[in-house]
Amino acid sequence: MNNLDLYTKDKENYLPTFNRFPLAFIKGKGSRLWDANGKEYIDLLAGIAVTNVGHCHPKVVSAVQKQAAELMHISNFFVTPQQVALSELLVKISGLDRVFLTNSGAESVEGAIKIARRYAHKHGLGGKIISMQNSFHGRTLATIATGQEKYQQGFGPIPTGFAQVPFNDLSAVEAAIDKETSAVIVEPIQGEGGVVPAEKAYLEGLRNLCDEKGILLIFDEIQCGIGRTGKWFAKDHFGVQPDIMTLAKGLGGGAPIGAILCNDKVANAIEFGDHGTTFGGNPLVAASAIATIEVINEEHLCKRATETSEWLRGKLAELIAKHDELVDVRGVGLMLGIIMKSEAKPVVLRLLEEGVVANATAGNILRLVPALNISRDELNLFLEKLDAVLSETKISA
Ligand SMILES: *Cc1c(COP(=O)(O)O)cnc(C)c1O
Repeated sequence: MNNLDLYTKDKENYLPTFNRFPLAFIKGKGSRLWDANGKEYIDLLAGIAVTNVGHCHPKVVSAVQKQAAELMHISNFFVTPQQVALSELLVKISGLDRVFLTNSGAESVEGAIKIARRYAHKHGLGGKIISMQNSFHGRTLATIATGQEKYQQGFGPIPTGFAQVPFNDLSAVEAAIDKETSAVIVEPIQGEGGVVPAEKAYLEGLRNLCDEKGILLIFDEIQCGIGRTGKWFAKDHFGVQPDIMTLAKGLGGGAPIGAILCNDKVANAIEFGDHGTTFGGNPLVAASAIATIEVINEEHLCKRATETSEWLRGKLAELIAKHDELVDVRGVGLMLGIIMKSEAKPVVLRLLEEGVVANATAGNILRLVPALNISRDELNLFLEKLDAVLSETKISA
């Protein structure tokens, strides 16, 4: 079946929740993708910041193949060597003390909210969670309560116990904290909100504020974690340690796995039976995550992401100077947003035709979240195509 056959068939059976492109991908290697018609693409989306080590990295493939043949699932009634090793790795690279493994980003945030409330209730606080405007923490009921209003429309009643304040505004958080408050949740770099980094003083201020009030600070590093910004976690750029951190996306190298990490202070409030999951961290996905972390480590992909980012920003600066349509670029490491004058979606569509997968977010932001090991040749191809597309007289949606 070709792209169109698959696209049409998908429409017959799948819920119409996604406005998909009429493209079906059937193979990937590093930062290259092939669609069902045999056309090749350069991938700057990486499955939305998921395949941080590239598609089908041999070490990840062999870890998954080996594990699939040995033991895929056993339930969390039992211990597995893969979960033990992964938890140890996560504790080591994060500087936090405890791990709970989940299946997705939203599920990590849901768990983080539960854990924060459990801690709060044991310390005589309420359950209110303060989140930021323009944030994104997932699409489940509690996570849409923390996020943008557009995702809440039509799904009421929305869970209560949430309050929102503007991002990067410390005094707004301070004003929102009352005796009902248990925690503040923030993305150190907003992803879906348009690749907007937090200010260092803001995150430091949040840390001090939370300590002062005895409440918890939660970092959602689902998009910005796992080497994406050139360090293991975005928090490492800011030198601020949260009480709870959520992970997913890049963690499994493509396998669906997430994690909630927390410090001992929080962990001490958690007891047997407080949370659970059937699949969470099963040997198959844990093996994939271990291999992914090892690849990032062995191939020095944090350093590489930083170097590639510097080089790419230099090249993008040339394009920004050349094209009125481009305003600026922001972000950290290989989590970059090109700010455009108008909607980014028509450019994304033209790039797809030219064999480049990129993404539009927050309207006018062209988001680039490629694999950390994308080559300069591949990026040069993207830059050429972007230059050409922007040089066209009229781009129509
Ligand atoms: C993608 C994302 C989520 C949600 O993850 P899912 O796996 O889609 O549930 C949560 N928080 C942030 C910051 C994200 O980027």
